[in-house]
Amino acid sequence: MNTVSLTLQEIGELAAQAFAKNGCDVANTEALVRTVVTAERDGSLSHGLFRVPGYVASLRSGKVNGRASPRVTHKTPAVIQAHGDNGYAPLLIERTVPVLAEAAQKLGVAVVSATHTYHFAALWPETEAIAAHGLIGLACVCYTPLVAPAGGGKPLFGTNPISFAWPRPGRSPMVIDMATAAKALGEVQVAARDGHEVPLGTGLDAGGKLTTDPREILKGMLLPFGGHKGSAIALMVELLAAGAVNENFSFEAAEGDNKDGGPPRGGEFMLAISPELLAGPGWAEHCEKFFARFDAIEGARLPGARRHRNRLSDAPRQVNAELVERIRRLSA
Ligand code: NDP
Repeated sequence: MNTVSLTLQEIGELAAQAFAKNGCDVANTEALVRTVVTAERDGSLSHGLFRVPGYVASLRSGKVNGRASPRVTHKTPAVIQAHGDNGYAPLLIERTVPVLAEAAQKLGVAVVSATHTYHFAALWPETEAIAAHGLIGLACVCYTPLVAPAGGGKPLFGTNPISFAWPRPGRSPMVIDMATAAKALGEVQVAARDGHEVPLGTGLDAGGKLTTDPREILKGMLLPFGGHKGSAIALMVELLAAGAVNENFSFEAAEGDNKDGGPPRGGEFMLAISPELLAGPGWAEHCEKFFARFDAIEGARLPGARRHRNRLSDAPRQVNAELVERIRRLSA
């Protein structure tokens, strides 16, 4: 793979051109750029520049509103409604998290039903933002049917990621962010593009046979991680991110989608809990004892630690050269 060296600022400028030239207003461009740049900064490569052509495709087809102005209202003091105005999720998330955090800090717990939005990114930006307020964060979204339930040979679940962040005062939070598919679709697409194999168990070919070839999996279906247990969590994500927020299940999202290469319309479930109010003073010190035990186990590392280490470097990032050219053409 040929790469070019780009600073984080150059990555931001490249993405900003593509969004602004394809119908995004300033607020949406800036929120999308922050999402792309932080993904590249942290090494979340399948959710940074790699996603820009997909974002642009849905702006050009008119499916996604580049001038969306998400509206955040309270249904009850603890239940927040975020209407995305059919735009991309980053601006909705930036407007919603402060409202969610304020409610959870006051009440102990608060929840968001986000609808009419298009999520095409990683979920850690929202759960880390919740944790930055000293709160426990949970978020999940559905997608389109790509993953077969355990034992089945027909996709029904999306790759259905779920993210959980735990605040650690004075330190980076502990952040889990994972697809409930054995691998995120973006990772399989990147492997197909770069000609790498994926581990057996990632997915099935169109005939339902296990394969390590990502191109065959893209014609077939993914599998949940961890057999029936991952399958159960994928099912839970469908119910939270669609049933509980009154938005599309993955199968409904696919039925209403124009398949332009961008994400389908969906919802997002977000939850914030105050450990200060739930556990009481001393919770952080208590939990640090647990983290110290964890860190003492050789070979184990906390989820999120790889990204937090990557972000310490402000060196230029190596980006796929073909992708950079493609994004430049989209901005022309
Ligand atoms: P990974 O399997 O790479 O990682 C999952 C989690 O496990 C991360 O928190 C990661 O932390 C952690 N982890 C990885 N390796 C280890 C290890 N050896 N020890 C301890 N922890 C580890 O992620 P996925 O491929 O499942 O998902 C990638 C991304 O795709 C996610 O950000 C997800 O939100 C996104 N996604 C978005 C979708 C959407 O519709 N918007 C759909 C599906 C996925 P670390 O990052 O530090 O490595």
